[in-house]
Amino acid sequence: MSESRIDPIEALANARHEFGEHGGVNMSIETSTTFTVLNADTMPEVFQGEHGPDQGGCYLYGRHYNPTVYALGKQLAAVEGSESAYCTASGLGAISAAVLQMCNTGDHIVSSDTIYGGTFALFNDFFPAKMGINTSFVDMSDLEAVDKAFIDKTKVLYVETMSNPTLRVADIPALAKIAHKHGARLIVDNTFCPLMVSPLALGADVVVHSLTKYINGASDSIAGAICGDGEFVGSLMDLHLGSLMLLGPTMDPRVASNISMRLPHLGLRMIEHSRRALYFAEKLEAMGLDVTYPGLKSHPDYALFKRVSNEPYGAGGIFCIDLGTAEKGNRFIDTLQNDCNFGFMAVSLGYFDTLLSCSASSTSSELSDEDLEKAGIKPGLVRIALGYTGTLEQRWKQMEQAMNITGTV
Ligand SMILES: *Cc1c(COP(=O)(O)O)cnc(C)c1O
Repeated sequence: MSESRIDPIEALANARHEFGEHGGVNMSIETSTTFTVLNADTMPEVFQGEHGPDQGGCYLYGRHYNPTVYALGKQLAAVEGSESAYCTASGLGAISAAVLQMCNTGDHIVSSDTIYGGTFALFNDFFPAKMGINTSFVDMSDLEAVDKAFIDKTKVLYVETMSNPTLRVADIPALAKIAHKHGARLIVDNTFCPLMVSPLALGADVVVHSLTKYINGASDSIAGAICGDGEFVGSLMDLHLGSLMLLGPTMDPRVASNISMRLPHLGLRMIEHSRRALYFAEKLEAMGLDVTYPGLKSHPDYALFKRVSNEPYGAGGIFCIDLGTAEKGNRFIDTLQNDCNFGFMAVSLGYFDTLLSCSASSTSSELSDEDLEKAGIKPGLVRIALGYTGTLEQRWKQMEQAMNITGTV
């Protein structure tokens, strides 16, 4: 972590210091969708953008700012070290709003070729068809290719901190330099690496999150966030051209309250996810399995990850094993769930229990066979989003049992 930067956990503790309405230790939930003014003259001023939450706290309407959602935004801004942040109904709501705020019809995006399936479909199919915004997909580890992919119309360079499911790490400082050289902005999806990596401190312009995963941590809410400077986040709420205001992916204040209640233990959870994932990854690799985990020396981005990550939070809770064929991969996760109680066959990640999936036929199935191959997503690749319930010893025994049943080693 760079020395000039406040530790994200310390910043979060400060940002959480907001009393509830009756002096409650938790902030209140403001359920109102509309807000009164004390005198009629204030109403037009509120519509002019005066008296907003940043200027004294007059609110207008729940699709514009809501006090509870705004407070959660401040907490996430603290986590990411951004000047401002606002939350959305989903991760894709955050991604689409952030990108559309920067791009007009005819503009261009340079994107990593290994991104979340829904984001890939948004860039590859939806944006060109509906908005005339085209994307060039590039291998982010090939910085020269990234540089060459820019055209005059490129407004956004888009990457995930850690790609899914190959867990390749983005060289954010180098990518930010390339984007800025071309007058574009770097958006980083930091869903896989909250606290672990601080993209804005490394030069990124905007961070987007699916809060659905680690940040909420209980697989019971779909939610997202956009973190950036005050001017950018403010522009998202513009009454004429704001993508959040006008496309309306509005977060419910009850969800904001729930998520805010899980943030205080995010640091502890990330450390434990990472500790267990490293234990499994090392042991499985030692047994001769083909394991992908950025905390392993065998990972191509081991050194890069060390360089860009914040020390105590580890290399994350996700690792992959290549079992060769889709059939073997599917049999293995079926055994882990149904014979060994190891976890659930389900997409998503960042849950307290373990989630198991075969990426090629699930979360990355929006990609064609050719794109899967290009992105290095093999048919037998099993993604394990490791939880922290039970004891580590118990979980390792269950894994060994599944290997015995399926004859994996
Ligand atoms: C899940 C996910 C998304 C989409 O988030 P939703 O909350 O499901 O809309 C985007 N990016 C990454 C990396 C994800 O894992």
